[in-house]
Amino acid sequence: MKLNPLYQAFIDAGEEAGYPTTDDYNGYRQEGFGPMHMTVDGGVRASTSNAHLRPALKRPNLTLMKGVLTRKVLLDGKKATGIEYQQGGSIKTATARKEVILSAGSIGSPQLLQLSGIGPAKVLQDAGVEVVQDLPGVGENLQDHLEVYFQYHCKQPISLNSKLGLISKGMIGTRWILFKDGLGATNHFESCAFIRSREGLKWPNIQYHFLPAAMRYDGQAAFDGHGFQVHVGPNKPESRGKVWITSNDPAAKPRIIFNYISTEQDKQDWRDTIRLSREILNQPAMDEYRGEEIQPGINITSDEDIDRWVRENVESAYHPSCTCKLGADDDPMAVLDNECKVRGLNPCGWWILPSSRLSRTAT
Ligand SMILES: Cc1cc2nc3c(=O)[nH]c(=O)nc-3n(C[C@H](O)[C@H](O)[C@H](O)COP(=O)(O)OP(=O)(O)OC[C@H]3O[C@@H](n4cnc5c(N)ncnc54)[C@H](O)[C@@H]3O)c2cc1C
Repeated sequence: MKLNPLYQAFIDAGEEAGYPTTDDYNGYRQEGFGPMHMTVDGGVRASTSNAHLRPALKRPNLTLMKGVLTRKVLLDGKKATGIEYQQGGSIKTATARKEVILSAGSIGSPQLLQLSGIGPAKVLQDAGVEVVQDLPGVGENLQDHLEVYFQYHCKQPISLNSKLGLISKGMIGTRWILFKDGLGATNHFESCAFIRSREGLKWPNIQYHFLPAAMRYDGQAAFDGHGFQVHVGPNKPESRGKVWITSNDPAAKPRIIFNYISTEQDKQDWRDTIRLSREILNQPAMDEYRGEEIQPGINITSDEDIDRWVRENVESAYHPSCTCKLGADDDPMAVLDNECKVRGLNPCGWWILPSSRLSRTAT
C-alpha cells in the first residue's frame, strides 16, 4: 500500500522517460521502475534475527552466545575443527562435529580467515600469523555502493518533512502501537528503480530508492518546507578495495581501504547517474509536485562540476561485500568453490560463507 502519491509519480516518471516497469526487481527482471520490497511482517521489521533466529532459539541444538568475540578458526592440519573465542576475560574453544560456518560479514570473515592462517601469505607473515593456506583472494575484491541524495522542493504539502515534529511523531507512534500500520510500519522507501546507463550492459548499473522527503539518513533536513529525493548511485562499480590484518591480535581492527571511484568508468557512471536522474525527475509525472532542485543544483552540469559535487557529497550505502570471492577453479583470487567451501582446505572440515547480498530489500 502506498500512502503517498509521490511514490507512484516517480514510477510514472520513469515510464515517461522511456524505461520499463517491474513488479519484482528481485525476480525475473530487475530492470525498471516499481514498488520497493520491504522486510516487514505485521508492521514490524522482519530482520534476520526476528524472522529466522528467534523462532529457532527453542531448538535443543542451537545455543546463542552474546558478547563473544571469535578469535580464530581452529585447524587440524587443513581441516577446520572448531573455533577459539573470548567470553569476558576467558578464552575458550568450541568444537565442531561436522562443519564450521563462518558468516562474520564482509570485514569480519576475511579478518577471521587471515587470523586463522588462511589468506595472502605476505599479509599473514607481516601480521605474525603462521601461513596454513596461501589464498591471495582473502580480503581482496572489496566492493561497496555509494549514493547521493538528489533532492527537490515539493510544491504540495504532502512530504514527510512535515512529520518530524513531536505531535506528528506521537500520532504516528500511537497508530503503530494500536494498529501496527501507518507511517510507523514502513521504512518510507516504497518505490525504486534499476536502470542501464549505456549500451552493452548485461544488468542495470544504476539504482534508485525514492523517498517522499528531502532529508539526510539521520533525519536532518537542510531547509524548511516540503521536499522529496532519490537515493541514487551506480551499483556495479569497478573500483575494488581490500581488508587486511596488521596484527595477530583478534581485537585489533583490520585495515580497510575502499578505493572508491578510482576508475575512469566509475567516474563516467557517476556523471551519467546525475544527468539521467535529472532527466527522470523532470518528466511531466512530477510536474505537479516538483519545485526547485535543491541538490546537486541546476548549475552542476559539467563533468568537472559533477565529479567535484559527487566527491563532496557521496556517502556509503553500507553495502560492503565480496571479500571472500566465490569463483571457478581457474580463478586464482577465488576464496570459495561453488559449494561455498574454502579452497585448499580439507573438504571434511568444510566451511560455508553465505553471500549476504543475493537479493535486495529496503530495510
Ligand atoms: C545502515 C544500514 C542500512 C542498510 N540498508 C540495507 C537495505 O535497505 N537493504 C539491504 O539489502 N541491505 C542493507 N544494508 C546492508 C545489509 O545490512 C548487509 O548487507 C547485511 O547485513 C550483511 O549480512 P552479513 O550476514 O554478511 O553480515 P552482518 O550482518 O554484518 O553480520 C556479521 C555479524 O558477524 C559479527 N562478527 C564479525 N566478526 C566477529 C567476531 N570476530 N566475533 C564475533 N562476531 C563477529 C558481527 O558483529 C555481525 O553481527 C544496510 C546496512 C546498514 C549498515
